[in-house]
Amino acid sequence: MTRPFTFPGLTTRVVFGHGTLAQVPDEVARLGHHRALVLSTPHQQAEAQALADRLGDRAAGVFAGAVMHTPTDVTDQAIAAFRAANADCVVSLGGGSTTGLGKAIAVRTGADQVVIPTTYAGSEMTDILGETAGGEKTTRRDPEIRPEVVVYDVDLTLTLPLALTVTSALNAIAHAMEGFYAPDRHPVTEALSRDAMPAFRDALPALAKDPQDKKARAKALYAAWGCSLTLGHVTMALHHKLAHVLGGSFGLPHAETHAVLLPHTTAYNEPAVEDLLRPIADTFGYDAAGKGLWHFAKSLNAPLRLSDLGLKEADLDRATEIATKNPYANPRPVTRDGIRHLLQQAFDGRCPA
Ligand code: NAD
Repeated sequence: MTRPFTFPGLTTRVVFGHGTLAQVPDEVARLGHHRALVLSTPHQQAEAQALADRLGDRAAGVFAGAVMHTPTDVTDQAIAAFRAANADCVVSLGGGSTTGLGKAIAVRTGADQVVIPTTYAGSEMTDILGETAGGEKTTRRDPEIRPEVVVYDVDLTLTLPLALTVTSALNAIAHAMEGFYAPDRHPVTEALSRDAMPAFRDALPALAKDPQDKKARAKALYAAWGCSLTLGHVTMALHHKLAHVLGGSFGLPHAETHAVLLPHTTAYNEPAVEDLLRPIADTFGYDAAGKGLWHFAKSLNAPLRLSDLGLKEADLDRATEIATKNPYANPRPVTRDGIRHLLQQAFDGRCPA
């Protein structure tokens, strides 16, 4: 029998394909805007400038100061640039860091956003914004945060370095993994998440051989879209909580942390929701979702140990403390001993049992 569900509806317009960057000026015009501030990280400044040139009269300038975890002082500078340029919308070209800056501007000014994602992190379809101020990261959800338009251009992902390709894809799989057991899941997220698993399974080994493989890049970006949509429309649990703790309180890098945690958080919850995680076990083999993901990550030379990301063994107790301080919904009860054990396994890089 079909499970009862509530489908919140989709509000973000999506354009997907090769060379779709050419459509960005039309998308800005379609929103009724005339002066777009183009955002990027310093690393992607040249691409942002080229996009501003392409926007011509519809460009208000470029702000290339986006950095990881959306520090509010950078947002303040970007808003000053937005106002000084008399901009009426933002165009965010880049990964989650740039998308985060666009969202932070949008939620403060009401500006519309056109997002052009160039990683698989998946911020573009969500109503979630994580920001840092005074060394603390806080996350909120608000409909105002969700971008109006997302333009996926597969060609822009051809330059994504292989290591980030792999960790960013595992970051995306983590959204789908928690989506499979989310209490508010519905057929749209279930179908797209299920679709994303074989797409990533096939695309990543192909990209490890040839990062310029356009068909594999298209598959991976399509899968990332589904995972992003899932992240943006259902509630996340243990995996995202732990990633938030390790990133926010210990400064660990975003995509790599998700990549290392994923097999362990999956294995932790698997006994409680084995049937719901079956699409992962069926896709990645080894008869168990967590184990299958660990072997998949290993085959791609993904980082496997929290110790390699800069975490100290002495930090594991404090990380456990923070992660278990406030209760939150999770398929399997979150216990101190259970999380301490999970973190030790991830610290050592052992295959989850
Ligand atoms: P990122 O945006 O920081 O990008 C990493 C680096 O790769 C940057 O220097 C960037 O310029 C470069 N880069 C990106 N795409 C490239 C490409 N195609 N070719 C060459 N270089 C490229 O990394 P990320 O993992 O995409 O994003 C991480 C951030 O996103 C974190 O702050 C995280 O909290 C946030 N995030 C938020 C959400 C949400 O829903 N709010 C979801 C996922 C991630």
